[in-house]
Amino acid sequence: MYALSGATRILGIIGNPVRHSLSPAMQNAALAECGLDYIYVPFAVTPECLDAAVSGLRALGVTGFNVTIPHKTAIMSYLDRLDESAEAAGAVNTVLVKDGLMTGYNTDGSGFISSLADDLGFVAGKGTIVIIGAGGAARGAVAALCRAGTERIVLINRTFSRAVELAEDMRSRYPETGIVAYPQDQINECRLGSASLLVNTTSIGMNGERIDFVDLAKLPKGAKVYDMIYSPLQTPLLREAAAMGIETANGLGMLAAQGEVAFSVWTGIVPPKGLMKRVLLRICNLTTA
Ligand code: NAP
Repeated sequence: MYALSGATRILGIIGNPVRHSLSPAMQNAALAECGLDYIYVPFAVTPECLDAAVSGLRALGVTGFNVTIPHKTAIMSYLDRLDESAEAAGAVNTVLVKDGLMTGYNTDGSGFISSLADDLGFVAGKGTIVIIGAGGAARGAVAALCRAGTERIVLINRTFSRAVELAEDMRSRYPETGIVAYPQDQINECRLGSASLLVNTTSIGMNGERIDFVDLAKLPKGAKVYDMIYSPLQTPLLREAAAMGIETANGLGMLAAQGEVAFSVWTGIVPPKGLMKRVLLRICNLTTA
């Protein structure tokens, strides 16, 4: 890292909590590797303080910041502009401050698409993708998959009405992709047999829970399984799929890739490919050792 000086530019992350965020480690490693005079710092911001925090960040002249739980939606009303990625995803995880104007981006979706390619060799296009979940992560993923030219998406969610709502919204934005919603208990009948990719966007598995309503044996040969969870690195879903010979990937690659895109938004420079993921793996292996 550069020695801090009067010229050092500031990046950061706002959220609550941010104590366990892995972004400062991976962003500072990339900034140092690229020889950029920036520092990336965590800011714990409660919902009551969001207004004051955004005004403060603007007044202090930061270059940009990440936004995490619980502010990804609330931040939108404070911004001057939204990139298409944020508008479609209905959430912002990256803000660029330039000439006093704040622009919101959503780099989770493009991070997901990059991770599918890098970690699973999966390129969106023809075929059916089954998504479990209809929350913020699902919304960003569906929008990015549609933009990447996916032919068909099947949405499954515990609260069926949320899946229906998400499908309707995305169909109106991306009419070229066929998007349908099914109740969670119909997943095994809902074209799982023709899926080329199954994606878990829910939090089921973070505490070792199984996704017991999915019959992985229904997936056709060659189908792949992606779990957005990265802590733990291997969820029961991934363990069970791998035991059946199915190719799998966890969400660590997505976390790194969304960080790479944010880094480019702020600095105009593409960080060294794979560096952020190596930092994350080192931290995760240390904490699970
Ligand atoms: P969210 O908006 O709160 O949505 C949570 C989703 O999980 C909803 O669809 C919810 O269904 C479903 N769900 C939760 N508990 C469930 C249960 N017991 N049974 C069935 N469904 C359940 O959260 P989010 O922001 O989308 O995040 C979801 C996950 O994605 C988290 O694990 C997060 O860590 C991960 N994520 C990873 C990355 C990455 O970079 N790798 C980025 C973003 C998010 P209902 O609608 O019925 O409540």
